[in-house]
Amino acid sequence: MLGLMMQTPLRIAALLEHAAKWHADTEIVSRNTEGGLHRYTYHHAHLRAQQLANALAALGIGPGDRVATLAWNNHRHFELYYAVSGMGAVCHTINPRLFADQLLFIINDAQDRLLFFDLTFLPLVEKLAPHCPQVEHWVLMTDRAHLPAATALPSLLCYEDLLAAQAAAYEWPVFDEYTASSLCYTSGTTDQPKGVLYSHRSTLLHSYAASLPDCFNCSSRDVVLPVVPMFHVNAWGIPYMVPLNGCKLVLPGPGLDAASLYELFEQEGVTFSAGVPTIWFGLLQYMREGQRQFGTLRRMIVGGAACPPALLQAFADELHVEIRHAWGMTETSPLGTVSTLKSKHLALPAEEQQALRNKQGRVIFGVDMKIVDDQGQELPHDGVAFGDLLVRGPFIVGDYFHAAQPGQLTQNGWFRTGDVATIDADGFMQITDRSKDVIKSGGEWISSIALENLAVAHPAVAEAAVIGVPHPKWSERPLLLVVRKPGQDVSAAELLRFYEGKVAPWWVPNAVEFVDQLPHTATGKLLKTQLRQDFAGYKL
Ligand code: ADP
Repeated sequence: MLGLMMQTPLRIAALLEHAAKWHADTEIVSRNTEGGLHRYTYHHAHLRAQQLANALAALGIGPGDRVATLAWNNHRHFELYYAVSGMGAVCHTINPRLFADQLLFIINDAQDRLLFFDLTFLPLVEKLAPHCPQVEHWVLMTDRAHLPAATALPSLLCYEDLLAAQAAAYEWPVFDEYTASSLCYTSGTTDQPKGVLYSHRSTLLHSYAASLPDCFNCSSRDVVLPVVPMFHVNAWGIPYMVPLNGCKLVLPGPGLDAASLYELFEQEGVTFSAGVPTIWFGLLQYMREGQRQFGTLRRMIVGGAACPPALLQAFADELHVEIRHAWGMTETSPLGTVSTLKSKHLALPAEEQQALRNKQGRVIFGVDMKIVDDQGQELPHDGVAFGDLLVRGPFIVGDYFHAAQPGQLTQNGWFRTGDVATIDADGFMQITDRSKDVIKSGGEWISSIALENLAVAHPAVAEAAVIGVPHPKWSERPLLLVVRKPGQDVSAAELLRFYEGKVAPWWVPNAVEFVDQLPHTATGKLLKTQLRQDFAGYKL
């Protein structure tokens, strides 16, 4: 017997319609690529999204067509999120920091028909265009005054001109909630980029999940500034979560340096933010240098890479900001776990509470997870046993876009994350490594992340990476690569002594190499594939 409730499909356009109707005067503030701040309300954002949908239709865009963006976090990008998905097309956000050959692969694999881009990326787009035959128009996200006098682009259109030619009345179509809404490629840390095609349903369910108190805990009283780019897994769902809750939204544009961020935090009264560890390290240093404090910032999410415990601690103790450690991937929309304490943990000593917060966190409703051994046998949730992390749920990938062998991705309905983790009885998950990064020494596994976290806790260390290098007896042994803080001199022997008593003796790296910098991926993660290549011939 079926239930008798209305069969209303979940649609992305409904989020913005809701905010425009019930939070009409709530602001969206955005730092323009051209300079200066742009300020308007959900009411106006909705009108402009409707104009844009009309403009897309006039350019011949229809259901299922891919429309790409190469853009910062700004109000025009926000309008594209809603106009493209809202009309039934697919909003394909591209990470401009990827290498040119990855970008070409992605644009051609997605078969984007239009590509919207910010002024910053004009030189990049001019280089890409000759190799993207199926892109019909390149749309510069600016007004006429900022159009280049001359360009090599075959068909350049102006965003503001497109909007100006259209009426602000548009009826958002109603369609099946499983309709594709947006497309994101994985950042290629371990492989060629792979397309993850989200649906309206998965996006809406993820938005509800992101709003929960043990997740982002955002309400209409919050002012939200996503530092995480809108080209990095849909800014972790924030552009969808804010209109659902009626939060004020602050978009930082291209200004991701600590001083520009701090200025916006203070000026706009930001209460909640989200970003990768590298961003928060930069901000922490800036705050310390000027002995600054935040006026309104209370809570932020750190994720995308393991957050060193020292960073969590510093934000809590020195800046009175709660950082919530979160884990996820492009394939999980991305939120999988967030680290918040249960009430029974509040009576624990401070160090034990901190140890829980350092973990990647507890699973949120909508995601189910387990760990398995090499034979696929489920491992206990004792916080000690570690194995391959598997997940499933309504906002977890079922297949990659254009998969060579469709139907092969999941095993018995579970998606293999490529991460290695422990889970405890309360559901706290802790990543011990990526399956490709774990160091296999004499048949036992050593967590490279644990060794890196300890290294960066040393006062002279700015950044650290640990990789496995070949060893005649143990097959692989850990090598510690260290970037020292400016003006700090610390020896290899001292760093190795620093591990004593903190890890099992056989986990201590065999050697230390000092480097000027470490390679990162487009999303700020350590690029260990490159490090392994660079140190392939290393002799211990
Ligand atoms: P890519 O897989 O190409 O790097 P993603 O942005 O999807 O692109 O990265 C997801 C991966 O990032 C996860 O599988 C995990 O290895 C890592 N990751 C994300 N958040 C965390 C975290 N809090 N701690 C440790 N690793 C993390």
